[in-house]
Amino acid sequence: MNFIGYHETPFYYLVSFAKKSHVEKFDVIVIGAGPAGLLAAGRAAQLGAKVLVLEKMRLPGRKLLITGKGRCNVTNSAPISEFIKHVYPDGKFLKPAFSNFYAPQILEILAQHGVECTLERGGRYFPASNQSHDVLKALLAWLEKLHVEIRCGHKVDKLLTQNHQITGVLANQTTFSAPKVILATGGNSYPATGSNGEGYQLAKSVGHTIQTVLPALVPLETEGNVAQTLQGLNLVNVKAVVWVNQKKMGEDFGEMLFTHFGLSGPIILTLSRIVSQALQNKQAVEITIDLKPALDEQKLEARLLRDLNEHGKKKIESIFKFWLPASMVPVFIELLELDPDKECHQLTAKERNKIRHLLKNMPFKISRTRTFKEAIITAGGISTSEIASKTMESKIIKGLYFAGEVIDVDAETGGYNLQIAYSTGWLAGESAAKPTN
Ligand SMILES: Cc1cc2nc3c(=O)[nH]c(=O)nc-3n(C[C@H](O)[C@H](O)[C@H](O)COP(=O)(O)OP(=O)(O)OC[C@H]3O[C@@H](n4cnc5c(N)ncnc54)[C@H](O)[C@@H]3O)c2cc1C
Repeated sequence: MNFIGYHETPFYYLVSFAKKSHVEKFDVIVIGAGPAGLLAAGRAAQLGAKVLVLEKMRLPGRKLLITGKGRCNVTNSAPISEFIKHVYPDGKFLKPAFSNFYAPQILEILAQHGVECTLERGGRYFPASNQSHDVLKALLAWLEKLHVEIRCGHKVDKLLTQNHQITGVLANQTTFSAPKVILATGGNSYPATGSNGEGYQLAKSVGHTIQTVLPALVPLETEGNVAQTLQGLNLVNVKAVVWVNQKKMGEDFGEMLFTHFGLSGPIILTLSRIVSQALQNKQAVEITIDLKPALDEQKLEARLLRDLNEHGKKKIESIFKFWLPASMVPVFIELLELDPDKECHQLTAKERNKIRHLLKNMPFKISRTRTFKEAIITAGGISTSEIASKTMESKIIKGLYFAGEVIDVDAETGGYNLQIAYSTGWLAGESAAKPTN
């Protein structure tokens, strides 16, 4: 098999549009061949179930291939108690799933199929090959061994139920019957990979509540042209603070990027969840950047005074280069409305205070987030209050299970989101494979 360019297509996920007249019967049907669906299918098959995965795209795991910029941040080494702090809106919902199947188990499955992973900064695991397709290839090899059938080109249009019990699904105008169905259709982000929110409609059609779905881990658009002027500039070791209606709602420290539309980079993506929700509630959102987080106001004041005294005869334009990346200097001088030809010794205390304030609080009004097309994850989804956390079974429809991003849980970057997909998938597969009472 060659998954790099998909030159060869293994028999078990051949795209088949042929209409079958008879109803095909399975023990477990999994909708969606993303990481959640693949783990669900594998676990159910391990326990002896006859499993069918229906995937609407022409190939499985499209999103998995683009994770971690093609490197796939497989999981994170954080212990469960730490991990759930990075999950929203309520990480505790995932405790039973994590207790059942966690990072060591996915690393073991991958290792058994030839993919060793290495640990990087922040507890992030990546395949040693740095290739996400190796991860997908390993998962598919695992499923092949377990005789799981994956049918691509099969879009599920309807969940079939009778007396609040699942009976099967309708895909490509064909009925597939099963007493257990696992919905693992992903969220709404990067819709070109297949996850375009259809799962929410399927869940809603059988009575589930969908918590408002919003783009998260998404870049932000800013008002004015300051960020745009600085596009391409990457800042490291800065602190970003998010203000909602002038109230501090979160902060993060690290790396960020100015773009042609506004702000991006790791710390901005992390804060974007708060921004997305505040904008949805029509609240005013501002992000301020602390360019000197290592210096408190007093220390920064001392530093400014020292530099200004030492270089009294220099023009202020040249002294700013000690404090800022060169491309920020003209932007700063304009924002501060300073005369660039002024000499340092001519600066007033008021002007120095304004400089200090701007270095610690460079403001950006946020107009909107970028769309789902650029969102790494979807916030919101099927309400966790309607899912039994110990089994992933619907509390509304018997025999219906949920796994992965379609559920109302999402996490920060760091391999957390994939682990959520594997753990909820595993638990859903395990529960679905158990005989019905
Ligand atoms: C650019 C990018 C980079 C990322 N990087 C990382 C990373 O490095 N680490 C990390 O932990 N997370 C990362 N994520 C997040 C991670 O990819 C997702 O959280 C994860 O893929 C969710 O898995 P899932 O199986 O629930 O959904 P998906 O991977 O979205 O899979 C859902 C599948 O269901 C199929 N489907 C949808 N509707 C139907 C239907 N009606 N019928 C049949 N099939 C259907 C879709 O085609 C799709 O194949 C990244 C996301 C993006 C967009």
